[in-house]
Amino acid sequence: MRVEKCKSKFNVFFIRLDPGEEVITTLEKIAVENDIRFGFIFGIGAVKNVEIGYYTGKRYVRNRLYEFFEVTSLIGNISMLKDKPFVHCHITLGKESGEIIGGHLFKAEISYTMEIMIIATEQPILERKYDEKTKLNILS
Ligand code: ZN
Repeated sequence: MRVEKCKSKFNVFFIRLDPGEEVITTLEKIAVENDIRFGFIFGIGAVKNVEIGYYTGKRYVRNRLYEFFEVTSLIGNISMLKDKPFVHCHITLGKESGEIIGGHLFKAEISYTMEIMIIATEQPILERKYDEKTKLNILS
């Protein structure tokens, strides 16, 4: 376990993503352009052409989905990995039937719109580093 008390000031960004934009790469671009090095992401919207993953403890099983979905929840964070902003998001997707699926978000294309808020600290609190135990880039 690791606990860090945040003494930094916060900046809040409200973002609308538009049809055709890819969620992860667009958020990473926004992070670079606005010098966001640590923050939390919250969003809702609608997407298609999605790739989500499930981590088995050794590797990600990837699942490509080509339907249109409601994004009932996009949640994640931004941190620095090797001097570049890294966006880590999980997503919950609603189907027409009302069923939901979700997982680690690799990519998703905006179908209609997405409304996102980023709460960013002025100073980075933690950064990502490779961890031998989990084989993941974890917050350190
Ligand atoms: Zn994840």
